Amino acid sequence: MLPGRGAEGIHSMVTIPQFVSRPEVEVVVYRHKPACKFTAPDKLGRCSCRKHLYVREARLRIATGKRSWEAAREFATRWQDAHDPEKTKQREQAAKQEATYKLVEDAFDDFIAAKKAASDNPEGFAATESKFCTLKKQLLIFLAKHNLTVAEPERVYYVHRITSSLLDRWMATWKAKTYWSKTKRRDNCVAFFEHCVDKRWIAYDATSKDKGNPARGMMRIRTAKGSTIPTLPFTPKQFHAVLAATLRYEESVTTVNKREVQNKGLRLHALVNLMRWSGLSITDAVTLGRDRLGADNRLELHRTKTGNPVYLLLRSEIAEEVRNIPPGPDANPDYFFWSGKGKKNKAASTWQKTFRKLWTLVTPPLVLKDRDGRKLAPKSHMLRNSFAVELLKKKVSLDHVAVLLGDNPETIREHYFKWVPELQAILDDEVKKTWQAEPIILEDADHAISAAVN
Ligand SMILES: [Zn+2]
Repeated sequence: MLPGRGAEGIHSMVTIPQFVSRPEVEVVVYRHKPACKFTAPDKLGRCSCRKHLYVREARLRIATGKRSWEAAREFATRWQDAHDPEKTKQREQAAKQEATYKLVEDAFDDFIAAKKAASDNPEGFAATESKFCTLKKQLLIFLAKHNLTVAEPERVYYVHRITSSLLDRWMATWKAKTYWSKTKRRDNCVAFFEHCVDKRWIAYDATSKDKGNPARGMMRIRTAKGSTIPTLPFTPKQFHAVLAATLRYEESVTTVNKREVQNKGLRLHALVNLMRWSGLSITDAVTLGRDRLGADNRLELHRTKTGNPVYLLLRSEIAEEVRNIPPGPDANPDYFFWSGKGKKNKAASTWQKTFRKLWTLVTPPLVLKDRDGRKLAPKSHMLRNSFAVELLKKKVSLDHVAVLLGDNPETIREHYFKWVPELQAILDDEVKKTWQAEPIILEDADHAISAAVN
């Protein structure tokens, strides 16, 4: 391009200096066309010859490519803005700000990848991953619909624009599901936005109750009648009744193939004890490898995000019972309960069936009700609830219980505190702990737990 044929042509030929303040420019006609009749100062306004910018400070002449004064003046303003050091600084800051904005979809992908990387059970994570993906898809669909109904400034593309009330409206669209599955979804939302806060895509807000996490402000999951269905533990009495029922399991089974249920009662007894005293989920418990239980009765529960194993000291009779479990029909020397074949969640669902049978054998019958007196079916997950609640009752701290369950303390607080009348004492302990401001040491958890269970 020839010089003088347009702004770009000139710019490529001339070095524009850095200005210390907004550069002053004038729009000038450098040379009129020979035929121009408006060269006199009082007629210049009607001149349609090519206009230039004259930058006084740098003594630059820049072609605007414009013939109209108005267009040339607009060009001048844009050029000034582009070279104004103050405006440049503002633009850089805005760009930086924009860079920390995170699209909901990208944030979710990052969250799922992080969860996957932190998972100590890649096979088991597939099910979790598909739940996260469904959640992501549904949130994106909800936001897309929302964005169609509001004006541009109200539209939500970035995670930091999502509010609790928007999430409540989203939650209202969730298809009728059980309390358990809805609660789990809500927990997953909390975990997702927690990740966003950690990554600073959402501002951490120390002054607000939800610390900037909009999902924490979501409404609690309630039944149609408005009562929350609790994260119910077994009472110690109910637990012992469940244990006793395991020993009636084999005689209750009328199947022709007795070999299939051989030792099932004793194995079930060991499983119930393991789940109650370790807090392991059913999948983790039934697929537990023998190498996870040390000769010192320490059970490797799981690994933290940073890969450190979390151990729980088991009471010796529980450890012995699990260690000496009679073999099942398809025994594998590497596992206590599992054949080592097939998918882990298949193994879990097989044992779930056994549990459903077990509940019917408990005497006196298990009567579980929500606050409205509606009957609840027992769940094997209640053994994990019992583990958590009994520790909290024995004043093991929220943080320690959270470490053992591989959950975050907020979730533990929300789910289990209502079962612990000793709440105030625990809160007092928490406050005292902040005075000491000491880090959490897992050995402390060991001591507290062995004191609690022995
Ligand atoms: Zn002219």
